[in-house]
Amino acid sequence: MLRESHSIVPPDPKLDTIQRIGLSVLGIGLVLFLLALFEQEIATGSWVFYTMLFGIVAGGITYSLRTHLKRPPGIHNNNLVKNTFTAVGAGGWLLGIIITGFYTAYYFFYQESALTKAGTEYRPSITQIFDPLSQLLRNSNADIWFVYGACYTIAVLIMGIKALAKYRHSKYQIVRTCSIMFCQFGFAFIVPSIMERLNQPYFLPNYFWPLEYKALMPDKVETLLSSGKSMAGFVFGWGIIMTLVATPLLTYYFGKRWYCSWVCGCGGLANTAGDSFRQLSNKSRTAWKIERIMIYSILIFVIIMTAMVWMDAWWGTLGGASLPVRKVYGFLIGATFSGVIGVGFYPLLGSRVWCRFGCPMAAVLGMIQKFKSRFRITTNGAQCISCGNCSTYCEMGIDVRWYAQRGQDIKRASCVGCGICSAVCPRGVLSLENGPTEQREEYTMDLLGSAKARKLEKK
Ligand code: SF4
Ligand code: SF4
Repeated sequence: MLRESHSIVPPDPKLDTIQRIGLSVLGIGLVLFLLALFEQEIATGSWVFYTMLFGIVAGGITYSLRTHLKRPPGIHNNNLVKNTFTAVGAGGWLLGIIITGFYTAYYFFYQESALTKAGTEYRPSITQIFDPLSQLLRNSNADIWFVYGACYTIAVLIMGIKALAKYRHSKYQIVRTCSIMFCQFGFAFIVPSIMERLNQPYFLPNYFWPLEYKALMPDKVETLLSSGKSMAGFVFGWGIIMTLVATPLLTYYFGKRWYCSWVCGCGGLANTAGDSFRQLSNKSRTAWKIERIMIYSILIFVIIMTAMVWMDAWWGTLGGASLPVRKVYGFLIGATFSGVIGVGFYPLLGSRVWCRFGCPMAAVLGMIQKFKSRFRITTNGAQCISCGNCSTYCEMGIDVRWYAQRGQDIKRASCVGCGICSAVCPRGVLSLENGPTEQREEYTMDLLGSAKARKLEKK
């Protein structure tokens, strides 16, 4: 029997009254946001901020909840390859150009031009409009990075609620989506704000080396430890323990997914705001080759850079040569790749461009997952009908069907354990597991009952 994991019910193209109300309220919030972003004269004050926030949050949630609750749960194949936004049509390109343009402007030009407008120190309207929230959380005025963090968090929360409605048939997706929403809201937004309010060091509990490459740089460590702030030791110790102890241990037991699909903000945005583009990941072998070359090169880059900066800081052996290397990494990888391309290219290359081709943390986790982890996706080859849903919706470009057809376990370094392949399989072929390996062999043999299984038994 086929599971209700992907529907063939055509989507209703007409908007009903609730959807229209949701879109109108969302529109009011977005207009206020855009007016402030483009420096148009609008009143500032709590009421403007709360009207904008209410419009975006309430309108966005009303529209997406209504849209998805009207449909059967799961991914809908209908018109996916014809839709201009989800199949790299004109709409996809337009969206890609707008997001990339926005990120480029925000990362590289907005801050500087806004700060020096008319030769004086100037606070852009977009920061002023966010002051009430910043005052509430941090007891200080907003800056553009506070605004960025707030917008990122709001996007994860609204689109997370959409994901909850869309995948309401899967317990794994519900718990996982709640986890990424909680980590973004609590760890990446509230904790750093509260720490600032308490005059404690900047602390992002869900980012550590090598993704947060600055965390282990000598200047950062020195500033932190000499700050005299009571939480400095804890913040430093947290980073070290997460990098050296928790990362290998948790990856051994649970695979890469504990971080990439449950905790990390980049994965959080990809699995919420980027979910509609997951099918755009390239499944070719060439893309797999490029992925391995790029991700491990960036990992080597970050290791060498960190070593160089320490050598310069401690012994001065490199005569300051680490400085340009660090600048190049910060510009090319830290800002351009992870930020601008990582999000801007969602509608063109899928939602995990950065996680798949660039993230050094994903490279470390992937190596542990491939060679020393209990996590794998088991496949019941006898049940597979080769529909290809799993491969189509794998955001990491893994040809899941190839393994399923052979009844082979999937142990790929790039798999982030998002579980969507399993959620969209109409035959219940795929299952994400952490158990001991011996059990896996018995299980595989039971399922196969074939000559291959008997061979394994003899061994
Ligand atoms: S394992 Fe993949 S190809 Fe096979 S039935 Fe499930 S979704 Fe279809
Ligand atoms: S193989 Fe499945 S669990 Fe792994 S990344 Fe692809 S869709 Fe997600």
